[in-house]
Amino acid sequence: MSTIVHYECRNLDHLRAGSRRGNGGLVIHHGSVGYCDGLHVDGAHRWVATGGVPIEFLVESAPTIDTGTYRTSEGALIHVRPSQTGKTLVEVDDPSGKRGDLRVAVKLSDDPDWPDGSSSHMTLLHAD
Ligand SMILES: [Zn+2]
Repeated sequence: MSTIVHYECRNLDHLRAGSRRGNGGLVIHHGSVGYCDGLHVDGAHRWVATGGVPIEFLVESAPTIDTGTYRTSEGALIHVRPSQTGKTLVEVDDPSGKRGDLRVAVKLSDDPDWPDGSSSHMTLLHAD
């Protein structure tokens, strides 16, 4: 399943910065997935709605954001789960409540409920 990108960055400075060729660059913008191709750029993205295109339309070797839990570079958690319509659902778990763009960093788990999934398992054992 390919990643659907809802925003792409058209900041001219970012476009001139050199292509990252799909190595990172995924950003959560308004709860949807955005992609900025610029290398080592600041957060001043200029988002343009794509209407939802597979990321392969934008870059050749595309990063994927599939089901699982990711961390942002700011430390918040992003839970990515499939929805009933087949679209990818992105939930941001940010205790600071800060709004704005979140840079997707490392994947922590294939489980979209991580780390809550493990704690509910322990609760089940307790109830026995
Ligand atoms: Zn950008």
